[in-house]
Amino acid sequence: MKDGHGRTIDYLRISLTDRCNFRCIYCMPEEGVQQLAHDDILRIEEMEQAVRIAAGMGIRSVRLTGGEPLVRKGVVDLVRAISHMPGIENVSMTTNGVLLPKMAAELKNAGLSRVNISLDTLDPEQFRQITRRGELQQTLDGIEAALATGFNPVKINAVTVRSLNQDYLAFAKLSIDRPLHVRFIEYMPVGESAGSHGCGWGQEDVVPSEELHELINARARAEGMDELVPAGKHQPLGWGPARYFEFPGAKGTVGFISPLSRHFCSECNRLRLTADGKLRPCLFSDDEYDLRTALRGDGGDAAVRAVFAEALGAKPDEHHDKVGTDRGMSQIGG
Ligand code: SAM
Ligand code: SF4
Repeated sequence: MKDGHGRTIDYLRISLTDRCNFRCIYCMPEEGVQQLAHDDILRIEEMEQAVRIAAGMGIRSVRLTGGEPLVRKGVVDLVRAISHMPGIENVSMTTNGVLLPKMAAELKNAGLSRVNISLDTLDPEQFRQITRRGELQQTLDGIEAALATGFNPVKINAVTVRSLNQDYLAFAKLSIDRPLHVRFIEYMPVGESAGSHGCGWGQEDVVPSEELHELINARARAEGMDELVPAGKHQPLGWGPARYFEFPGAKGTVGFISPLSRHFCSECNRLRLTADGKLRPCLFSDDEYDLRTALRGDGGDAAVRAVFAEALGAKPDEHHDKVGTDRGMSQIGG
């Protein structure tokens, strides 16, 4: 599938649910977002149908996200169905990790290729403040479960926020002894225009990746460690816009994802499907295309394909620094 700007689109991110067992301050309000009505959410079979049709059009890689994808009933069945579909080369997931100790093995058996686990702080008290209802140990146990189950790569996604004063070097060091790929992601003030989370962070909390990279190197030097060097053979597999580095001799890598300071729109390869069945050509734009009506209508596969084609044709060339959206991350799927 080519979009109107010549980019090959082969990656679909699906938000399985807008619900979550956490309430991260930058993602959801304390009381949760106004939940979608049961009927508005795509059924698992409808998601399967969407992926089957998308695979026929050129989608090769699917990422399951949310909300928290592991709280969605039927998630293992969905993984099993789509990981075996002709054309689909890999199915991955972004999760807060809490349910991985329980579910990692069945997900792997069902065909899940990779997991990204979100973890923004290594301080137990700060973890409680950020997630509002999570314990650091739960996510750490999730990471252990992912490694023990043999997922490879296991990536850790850490959103960097200046006013959190995270210990960046401690995060980066997680990559040394074990094959963990720590990725720092610039905070994106998404959902702000709806005032949907009100965590009080703004543009000034974005830590540009270049600055972060230098901060980590400076801290490493101060501790007598080597600096990061461009990642060689450990570069983790996976579609994605991170630039990877490693400490010499480390088992894993350190990646930087810079949606704002060095945007990667020219390499964008993705479409997003929200839990209520809307196709979003761009994370940062509220432009949406109604796949759900096509999936439930009597136009068959052709009608669904037409909506995919419409969304594809509407992909903007770049986000033009507009990052506010009406829907929060938990609704769009991050
Ligand atoms: N619940 C899962 C999790 O937390 O991994 C999947 C959904 S979550 C919305 C997906 C990713 O988006 C997480 O890594 C989260 O940290 C990130 N995210 C949420 N809000 C964000 C924001 N405003 N800026 C940058 N990343 C954000
Ligand atoms: Fe839930 Fe993930 Fe959003 Fe945190 S970032 S509230 S874990 S969906």
